Amino acid sequence: MNLKISALEFVQEVQNGNISAEDFVAKTLERIQSIDEKLHAFLSVNEQAVDQARKVDKKIKSGDKVGACFGMPISIKDNMCIKNSKTTCASKMLENFVAPYDATVITKLKEQDAVFVGKVNLDEFAMGLTTEFSAFGSSKNPWNTEYVPGGSSGGSAVSVSAFECVASLGSDTGGSVRNPASFCSAIGYKPTYGLISRYGLISYANSIEQIGPLTRTVKDAAFILNIISGLDPNDNTTVDNKSEDYLSDIDSGIEGKKIGIIKEMTEDGIDLAVLSATKNAISKLEALGAICEEVSLDMVKYSVAAYYTITATEAGSNLARYDNLRYGYDFPLEGYEFNSYISKARQNFGPEVTRRMIIGGFVPSAGHAGKYFLKALKVKSKLTREINEAFKKFDLLIAPTVPVLPFKIGEKIDDPVSLFQIDINTVTANLTGKPAISVPFSISNGLPIGIQLFADSMNDKLLLQAAYALEQTVSLPKVPI
Ligand code: GLN
Repeated sequence: MNLKISALEFVQEVQNGNISAEDFVAKTLERIQSIDEKLHAFLSVNEQAVDQARKVDKKIKSGDKVGACFGMPISIKDNMCIKNSKTTCASKMLENFVAPYDATVITKLKEQDAVFVGKVNLDEFAMGLTTEFSAFGSSKNPWNTEYVPGGSSGGSAVSVSAFECVASLGSDTGGSVRNPASFCSAIGYKPTYGLISRYGLISYANSIEQIGPLTRTVKDAAFILNIISGLDPNDNTTVDNKSEDYLSDIDSGIEGKKIGIIKEMTEDGIDLAVLSATKNAISKLEALGAICEEVSLDMVKYSVAAYYTITATEAGSNLARYDNLRYGYDFPLEGYEFNSYISKARQNFGPEVTRRMIIGGFVPSAGHAGKYFLKALKVKSKLTREINEAFKKFDLLIAPTVPVLPFKIGEKIDDPVSLFQIDINTVTANLTGKPAISVPFSISNGLPIGIQLFADSMNDKLLLQAAYALEQTVSLPKVPI
């Protein structure tokens, strides 16, 4: 059984009767059993997955209507709720939390007969970019297990690139889908803000985050977007995409399209291998008929500071609910008064979440908000104005997804500011609500490099067409595991 096929190939094979969903899911679980000890992508595995796949096979045999996923095995980042299953956010605080309802994306995937193989690792509450901040231990990069897989949706990227599932859902607040996709050589796509419902995604910074697919091909990302996007009465920030078909015309090409090369994301501090891959990608796009030219987004230089100020503020408020009364790590009330009880409960947050909560309490506080939070909001609106101007001239923008190559586990964990800086190329899409996608483009010294494309809001179809065109220009080795 070839577990390395794409989602669309899987669907076709099952539809044609060449493979059964049950066999494929069973083999997938065997693979998880045999290699995940090394990779630690999974926090929990769905013991009912094979039974669920068998039910899909039965439907096919009896000629009943079958959903578009045909029993496809998908992994889910462990910050999205699946009814009656554990949703830990990789935190001690939610170690025993069982979700009482399905996230909208889960409902939609269930309706289309997807099979969830398990919940995958992340930095605690999606704060980080290496998975080293998971309370349950870091995931490993399948290209070299001494290296970080990126994050925070590291488990998603590892599970897709190491063939422990066919596709995965992650969440992207400041790059958490695109960064690990780049580090593990997968497609990672953050859609326009509002295109996918966040209902049932445990909030980190609601005003800018989105759920997004991690897949083996651009077509697979479009296929999943078709299923999970659209208006949701449970999330008032969703937009009506009029049931757009993102898969049709995906091979339209990019001839005549104008692409802006973001100056501030291709200079200072960028690794030379990453720079040369970016130049190479630009030449390939030019060869396909695109017109590429440099563009400056001056506010990018303040974007990381603004991003961490805004997200810490939202996180401070979102995480206030983990007070051990409604949610939280359980211990008896005896011997505490209110403050000492809450403070004891909060000790169950790991170091990164604690750091964000402290920052998030300080930066919007009376007397400091003008200097920090309000200034960050100004950067956000100026940056949005700048990128909107750029999209008057360009159809798409391009930059490397991450300015550096994957690094060793433990190498940067004690230097939070240098970790924050690595987000410089990804946070702009979140702060401005624009769609962006990371496409695997090259391998340097055995480590993957992804190239990022951006489009204007609601131009996701064009973005996917461009990503598809770029994807066709390279043929990369498969992960050596
Ligand atoms: N590294 C960023 C952060 O820690 C992004 C995380 C994310 O996108 N969830 O906030």
